[in-house]
Amino acid sequence: MPEYICSECGKRYPIEPFLYLCPECSKKQKENEPLHGVLLVSPDQEQFERFRKVGDPLSLLPVEREHFPDIPVGNTPLFHSKNLSEYTGFKNLYIKNDTLNPTGSLKDRASYLVSGFARKMGIEEIVLASTGNAASSMAGIGASAGQKITIFVPEDAPEAKLVQCRQYGADVKVVPGDYDRAYSLALEYADKQRALSRNTAHNPLTIDGKKTVSIEIFLQMGRMPENVFVPVGDGVIIAGVYRGFEDVVNAGLSSRMPKIFGVQAEGSDGICRIYETGSFEYRKPSTIADSISVGIPRNGYLAAGFLKKYKGECIRVSDDEILKAQIILSQKTGVFAEPSAAASLAGFLKVKERISGNESVVLLITGSGLKDIKSAKRALERFG
Ligand SMILES: *Cc1c(COP(=O)(O)O)cnc(C)c1O
Repeated sequence: MPEYICSECGKRYPIEPFLYLCPECSKKQKENEPLHGVLLVSPDQEQFERFRKVGDPLSLLPVEREHFPDIPVGNTPLFHSKNLSEYTGFKNLYIKNDTLNPTGSLKDRASYLVSGFARKMGIEEIVLASTGNAASSMAGIGASAGQKITIFVPEDAPEAKLVQCRQYGADVKVVPGDYDRAYSLALEYADKQRALSRNTAHNPLTIDGKKTVSIEIFLQMGRMPENVFVPVGDGVIIAGVYRGFEDVVNAGLSSRMPKIFGVQAEGSDGICRIYETGSFEYRKPSTIADSISVGIPRNGYLAAGFLKKYKGECIRVSDDEILKAQIILSQKTGVFAEPSAAASLAGFLKVKERISGNESVVLLITGSGLKDIKSAKRALERFG
């Protein structure tokens, strides 16, 4: 059986619906800091065997195929863009286009697993806080599964994301205040209603669901890439990316991990600061890239820990660099990404002089530009 394993103390637990954090390590939790006792899913040997045989990333998830919603998620294209290669001087440069998920962002990978798990456990309501994409994703995937979805969003979430949630029929509660406030309210609500929490990092399946993206990258390339650029807000995607590559190594299909560059906005760089100083200090976030704008990066300790363990780097980009990268990505590749997703390219452009031009590079493009037209307009006014 797959199990939960605590990322801090290593203790193992059975996978149960209302167990979210390690009961021991979460005692250390203080207010206004990243989560302690984040649990990881550890697949069993049978799953690794099946994966080696059939090469299906879903076989490494802790939910059986029959429970997943009908709507297909993942299996997004990995492609080489000649224009972007010429522009950057990197011939082995690839785009992993996760804007092509059903609701337009990589978040669908996590929603898909959480939805399937709720169905397996007979839980009918799922609740979460989100700045937008996790919400619209859970709303859409939940709609396809016929589940009740309740969402807490901060009042400054981009309009398209809210409209998208309502289109899918979710119960949207707009919260006066920021994402951190919405996060606490969602947890209170989940507790009271006995609904499944899909709060990012809090529910271990939000990390595990996202690992399919790196397993796909490995399968699509037929080998481990050398460098991967990942935008980082709460640090859940990057942890999922590490977990997926670890699964590939643990399945015996590769002996090395890629170098991963976590890219944060200058005005929301909590994980870079944990990585550099070893400790967290709250700062009010400020960036145009709403999906990576967080004051308390919920998965900050784990994400910084992975970066340390595998000698990754945490880098910062300015809003101008992000908006410029958004336009370059659109005009060189035809992929219109939201600012948070364009941060991958912005990060790569910033450090590419330090990477050998022969190495392979994958840019993870996490969400569609149509989700935030206001920022895209601003990018055009400044750099178009
Ligand atoms: C959520 C999100 C991110 C950041 O992921 P974290 O897990 O918060 O680090 C990046 N890009 C997009 C489009 C997202 O929706």
